[in-house]
Amino acid sequence: MFESLSDRLSGILDKLTRRGALTEQDVSEAMREVRRALLEADVALDVVKDFVERVKEKAVGQEVVKSVAPGQMVIKIVHDELVETLGREPEPIDLAAAVPVVMMLVGLQGSGKTTTTAKIARRLQTRDKQKVLMASLDTRRPAAQEQLKILGEQTDVATLPIVEGEDPVTITKRAMDAARRGGYDVLMLDTAGRTHIDEELMAETAAIEKASTPHETLLVADALTGQDAVNLAQNFDECVKLTGIVLTRIDGDGRGGAALSMRAVTGKPIKLLGTGEKIDALEDFHPDRIANRILG
Ligand code: GDP
Repeated sequence: MFESLSDRLSGILDKLTRRGALTEQDVSEAMREVRRALLEADVALDVVKDFVERVKEKAVGQEVVKSVAPGQMVIKIVHDELVETLGREPEPIDLAAAVPVVMMLVGLQGSGKTTTTAKIARRLQTRDKQKVLMASLDTRRPAAQEQLKILGEQTDVATLPIVEGEDPVTITKRAMDAARRGGYDVLMLDTAGRTHIDEELMAETAAIEKASTPHETLLVADALTGQDAVNLAQNFDECVKLTGIVLTRIDGDGRGGAALSMRAVTGKPIKLLGTGEKIDALEDFHPDRIANRILG
């Protein structure tokens, strides 16, 4: 079992017996540990460098007082800086718009987009008492629309009837019409993914955005893909106006590093976490919890 970052910081700093202000030398060994832990957690190098610099600035000069161990003092600084970098407060899904509120989900194939669409829809319907309609705009993968339909049946959420041969923008318009006529509060658009980003995907996604003017546009990204997920977010954000991120497969990312890079590089709020394959495996993003996970 690895020693946690907190333990390592205490191990290094609590050896200090001298009182007075922490010097650069006192904290430099501790900062090496912070750097190592973040890199091990797959946080992007630039993000790590900036982070360590900020923590160092705050730690050097701090008065060592009798009542608090120096290790604890620096752990608190690291913790607070992690929370700050991760966005401080949870940012929930925003539904404050005229109904039907359109929510579009974008991302690569296999990132968990369709599953996440159903997870969010189910939660909105059961917990928030919203009437939700889901529509799959994935005309590429033959089984995609069918997959959403099955998930809808399993979760008791309505899906737009499938019409063969329609293009994504036509389906979008039909979905908006159906949402209006049916008195739905929320329309969720599950867009097509690809194995990688290409111009065609970006053009299609932009056309859907134009046709539906979504209130929320969420990027669904696999936490296990680390730096790739960050690049993906930047690419998508150049083409559509992302309002937030859902990180999936957090159940497999024990260290939570993807969240830190994602937020630091893109500046987009992480709104939700996918924590498993089951339909209720969806959690609000709490910066504090991820900070504790990284500190261990
Ligand atoms: P899409 O191609 O982006 O629509 O991806 P899918 O929704 O079809 O998901 C691909 C696979 O990932 C499925 O087997 C899902 O059950 C699984 N999956 C989705 N979200 C999560 C998650 O948060 N954790 C885990 N462990 N698996 C997930």
